Amino acid sequence: MNKIPFNKPFLTGNELKYIKDAVESGKISGNGKFTKLCQEFFEKEFSSCKSLLTTSCTDALEMSAILANIKEDDEVIIPSFTFVSTALSFIRERANVIFADSNKHNPNIDADSIEQLITPKTKAIVPVHYAGIACDMDKIMALAKKYNLIVIEDAAQAIDSYYNGKALGTIGDLGCFSFHETKNIIAGEGGLLSINNKDFSKRAEIIWEKGTNRSEFFRGEVNKYGWVDTGSSFLPSEIIAAFLYSQFENLSTIQQKRKKLWHLYHENLINLEEEGFIRLPHIPDYATNNAHMFYILCKDLEERSRLILYLSEKNILSVFHYLSLHKSEFYSTTYSGKDLKYSDYYTDSLLRLPLFYDLTDSEVNYISENIQKFYSK
Ligand SMILES: *Cc1c(COP(=O)(O)O)cnc(C)c1O
Repeated sequence: MNKIPFNKPFLTGNELKYIKDAVESGKISGNGKFTKLCQEFFEKEFSSCKSLLTTSCTDALEMSAILANIKEDDEVIIPSFTFVSTALSFIRERANVIFADSNKHNPNIDADSIEQLITPKTKAIVPVHYAGIACDMDKIMALAKKYNLIVIEDAAQAIDSYYNGKALGTIGDLGCFSFHETKNIIAGEGGLLSINNKDFSKRAEIIWEKGTNRSEFFRGEVNKYGWVDTGSSFLPSEIIAAFLYSQFENLSTIQQKRKKLWHLYHENLINLEEEGFIRLPHIPDYATNNAHMFYILCKDLEERSRLILYLSEKNILSVFHYLSLHKSEFYSTTYSGKDLKYSDYYTDSLLRLPLFYDLTDSEVNYISENIQKFYSK
């Protein structure tokens, strides 16, 4: 078997055609034809009231921190088991991130642990839908209402996934998506902010366009444009939007293929869960699966390290994921909260298997057989 990579970006075939269109149109800066096509597609497909393309999910999170008016000493509750960007966007505004633990069943934030972390300084909760599987949003939204907090969903992995029928990233006040080449829908680097609370709509556009009211000006709503607020250059060029649009057009094909591969893994490995060797992803009743990732949970760090090595000897690249942020080099000396045992458990035990569009059934079978062999030794 040839080497099986962990990820391989999928190209739909129309990327270069649309980029050529954009280039030949003579307008390649942001907020042009393809940006609008992408935003309209997203809004219609996922019932989002307003969306803005960004150059990354990190940017969408930074925009959210500005929109939520996060200031020095404010507190923002985030899971420790997440990517750095979830924390970084708030740390840059000098807020304190308050790390919550994951839950027992999957790596998502333990919604029942959030209330005890809320103080008069708390401004926002940032649930991360790990592997595209929904957090317990009813509980989180109820807490936000009770304590008057803003909810910013880190939906970086969660495109085309749902909580009780509602698209992830459209439930909280703001939702942040990533189109990094490792996600389901890609643009190399890219992202999107879904603005679900209309109170933020107008200001979001201004922050997006370097603190100017340029968007309103071009719609003819104001007769001059200038500097009106803080902001940055958060919008991508039309070249990126053109690439992204060809991916959006193929959303259902991409998702069908990924789900088929995901289910093949699940079928192939379920006996190992039943026999108590590993755990497979847990999808609560309220959540759908967008097949962003297939992971298994090993017994511990030692077993996982041996399995990674075993698979690499068979030409299979499997990878672990986040290291608890409260134990990171940057944050561990600042952290004074409790032990976060489930976050540490996922840090040590979670192993991601190759999952990408061009992966074949026989490769999934080959990977599965080798995992079976590892556990039968
Ligand atoms: C990928 C990812 C990000 C960062 O996305 P970028 O587009 O690379 O900025 C943030 N949060 C989570 C949970 C992610 O998986």
